[in-house]
Amino acid sequence: MPSLVEELKRAIRDVPDFPKPGILFKDLTPLLGRGDLFKRAVDQIAERYQNQGVEQVLTIESRGFLLGAPIAYRLGAGIIPIRKKGKLPWKTVGVTYQLEYGTDTLEMHADAMNPGTRVIVVDDLLATGGTARATCQLAEKLRGRVMGCAFLVELAFLKGRNTLQGFDVFSLIQF
Ligand code: AMP
Repeated sequence: MPSLVEELKRAIRDVPDFPKPGILFKDLTPLLGRGDLFKRAVDQIAERYQNQGVEQVLTIESRGFLLGAPIAYRLGAGIIPIRKKGKLPWKTVGVTYQLEYGTDTLEMHADAMNPGTRVIVVDDLLATGGTARATCQLAEKLRGRVMGCAFLVELAFLKGRNTLQGFDVFSLIQF
């Protein structure tokens, strides 16, 4: 019997040169499309945070929403959407971070979280870690307590964990 991680790996499709030349894109849609695998993956990630009193889950636009929402639901936690600049309708706080070329800005609603709230950050995939770090910084701007960062997939060779030093990092699948 293959392990869950082996089964999940088999359901991830490699797409070369997407969205630009030189990137090997990990397409998670075949995995997400299978109810059995999706459920077990969500359950495994949520289980890790079961007894940590997580109150809110920060989920990162847009593929992160697909995992963050069911994980929050399992934990009985609220959802905070983290979005690209200009997408949220209310007052926001933002963090600008470095990309390979240029910068990007992530935002969350300024009243999304009370000081001291126990939160986790969820995204589909950890690459260089810049996106998740910016999200942790957003939580810290509102003085939230970041209990951890969780990913379905980690591209370990990109050393995103180094970028997230000081935060507890968990991934179900590593390449
Ligand atoms: P990073 O900030 O470098 O950790 O990038 C993480 C974000 O970019 C995640 O939201 C991923 O969805 C996306 N991403 C980066 N690299 C890949 C890849 N090779 N395959 C799929 N998604 C990726």
